[in-house]
Amino acid sequence: MQKKIAIIGAGASGCMAAIVAAKNNCIVTLFESNDQIGKKILATGNGRCNISNNNLSETYYYSESDVDNNKLIHILDEFSFENTRDFFKELGLYFTIKESMAYPKSGQAQSVVNILKNELERNHILIRLSERIKKISVTDTGRFELKTSKGIEEFDRVIIATGGISSAISGSDGDGYYLAKQLGHTVVDTCPALVQLKCDGNFWEQISGVRCDACVTLADCTEYGELQITDYGISGFPVFQLSLNACRRLQNNEFLEGYIDFLPDICEDELKEILSKHNLEGLLNPKLAEFLFKKYILSKDINVIKKFRITVNGHNGYKNAQVTSGGVSLTEVDTHLQSLKYKGLYFTGEVLDITGKCGGYNLQWAWSSGYVAGMHASKT
Ligand SMILES: Cc1cc2nc3c(=O)[nH]c(=O)nc-3n(C[C@H](O)[C@H](O)[C@H](O)COP(=O)(O)OP(=O)(O)OC[C@H]3O[C@@H](n4cnc5c(N)ncnc54)[C@H](O)[C@@H]3O)c2cc1C
Repeated sequence: MQKKIAIIGAGASGCMAAIVAAKNNCIVTLFESNDQIGKKILATGNGRCNISNNNLSETYYYSESDVDNNKLIHILDEFSFENTRDFFKELGLYFTIKESMAYPKSGQAQSVVNILKNELERNHILIRLSERIKKISVTDTGRFELKTSKGIEEFDRVIIATGGISSAISGSDGDGYYLAKQLGHTVVDTCPALVQLKCDGNFWEQISGVRCDACVTLADCTEYGELQITDYGISGFPVFQLSLNACRRLQNNEFLEGYIDFLPDICEDELKEILSKHNLEGLLNPKLAEFLFKKYILSKDINVIKKFRITVNGHNGYKNAQVTSGGVSLTEVDTHLQSLKYKGLYFTGEVLDITGKCGGYNLQWAWSSGYVAGMHASKT
């Protein structure tokens, strides 16, 4: 008999799980509380969707509950970057690679959503929009009863693909944690990640809006890339990478100090030589050059440029964070992402306690985990 599978959440991981399960001869219903599928995908990569990364390994991920990365490695192996590229190619979506980051060749996140939608429809998946799952109960026969905003229905398997709590405007508002807890699952403390950081000091407004390639060091971790200065602190690629660890430390009330090297490709001796003849105008954005040069004149210390001290005192919250770190503990699922508490219950994507770095790693986790859960839910 064909299995009836319910998937909760039509984000990246839910759509992938639904397509895989339907291809494996299951009757799939995809519930989505929004009035459209893949709302968050549309916002990814500034509308261009950094869909994956061809430099994929467990080192780009963080989890408190999968400390040896055992499950993560297994899942990324089962559905790798190459599998993802081939999956989308089969649907007519080709990748272009920029510094290991993969984007759809169209340069549009919308094409990813359109292509997923076509494939869901082609596989006769019932998409139930504007329908929220409120409660999951397990029946005496081991089936799942879903209480939705519109009624009650039973299924053989359930996949929770509800996302985290960051960027709630796109629909993921923490429901998955609530549903998981109701079923007795442990949720590792959540925290915003890939988010802007707020810093001490009343000078930020003076240099706000500046973008420059820099090295940022915080708590012994250094990241390089385009730094963006805001009127409250720092943002941009290196800051997002550091925020994964920084937000956890802030949550533990740790003092978070670091520094910025505004000219990482110029060594101290060379910079001293330059400063003996010139100001910084030929090297940096004019606003930043003037600000740093004034500081240098006052202090005569090259460190105001090479080791500009910062103290981080906060982050910009879940609302502005790209992802949520923490989530359903990996200790309570098997390598197929099936619950160890209830046979037939699965989790995928950001609702789980796995967080990737910036660069396509979170979507890759959504594709890999969605594939693995969809495949095994339909086969076992
Ligand atoms: C601004 C922004 C930019 C990003 N850019 C990138 C990027 O370029 N590359 C990258 O790899 N990652 C990026 N990310 C992260 C990435 O988008 C997410 O990690 C990924 O989409 C998570 O997929 P998911 O399927 O787990 O959850 P989501 O995509 O969040 O989907 C969950 C879905 O479940 C629905 N839902 C929730 N609760 C219920 C319920 N009770 N009943 C029914 N439906 C429910 C939600 O409405 C939502 O549609 C970005 C995130 C943001 C916010």
